[in-house]
Amino acid sequence: MAAPPPLASNEAILAAEQAPLHKWAAESEWNAPMEPFTIIGNVHYVGTKTISALLITTPKGHFLIDGVVPQSGPQIAANVAKLGYKMTDVKYLLNSHAHMDHAGGLAGLKMRSGAKMVASAADKPFLEAGDIGHGPSGGVKFPPVRVDRIIADGGTLRLGKTILKAHLTPGHSPGCTSWSMTAAGKTVFYHCSASVAGQSLKPEAYPGIVANFRATFAKTKAMKADVFLANHDIFFDLHAKRARQIAGETQAFVNPAELQEFNRIMEDAFEQRLKAEEAKAP
Ligand SMILES: [Zn+2]
Repeated sequence: MAAPPPLASNEAILAAEQAPLHKWAAESEWNAPMEPFTIIGNVHYVGTKTISALLITTPKGHFLIDGVVPQSGPQIAANVAKLGYKMTDVKYLLNSHAHMDHAGGLAGLKMRSGAKMVASAADKPFLEAGDIGHGPSGGVKFPPVRVDRIIADGGTLRLGKTILKAHLTPGHSPGCTSWSMTAAGKTVFYHCSASVAGQSLKPEAYPGIVANFRATFAKTKAMKADVFLANHDIFFDLHAKRARQIAGETQAFVNPAELQEFNRIMEDAFEQRLKAEEAKAP
């Protein structure tokens, strides 16, 4: 059976890649270049200066997580090539969540790779609309990307000996998906994000946002990771670690305490924000 057609034409994707950056992207250097590098084992950083994209390579094909902004597709593809890999060997395209700064380049990456797009059921409609549809990012459009396969909480994808596991960590988006894997004997965890990011908690930006955040904090408290990765540089101190790695520290990205430190910071910020909004609400 022939694959269903893409939701954005090649012309529309190329036009979005050439379009001026959204003001948030320009202000926060979301599309500024960064040299690609290997984080640990077969896990590589192919994102921009401030937003992550991860390439996980295997002899049986590769995983590519996140597409950054719509203009980032060519840069990510060039980064994959710089590391000596082929975009056409990318078999699975994954996403942390359906905001423009992490999903924007996915359609362009799918166009270049032919990979299967795998996402949570709750974020699928937003990826396919090219718009999260609520909160401050609602109406900030990106080229829509067809989701070929839905992944549930605890679901896995395998290429060669590498297994990626999906952890649904909703809150920041309804279908926010974190990913874990083992690389070089270490547990690697890529966090979807747990920041409120200007979304209203009272009234709820989407139904269930408060319960989602609380369930995600409870769930991730029980988790352990040797290597904590996230989708904005500031969440995991990307540049300081990379500088230490360049200086010769091979385990610069290994810190088993970091996931729980991140959880604590995010949970405190969430509860404070909720209290402030409840105090203001009638
Ligand atoms: Zn987001």
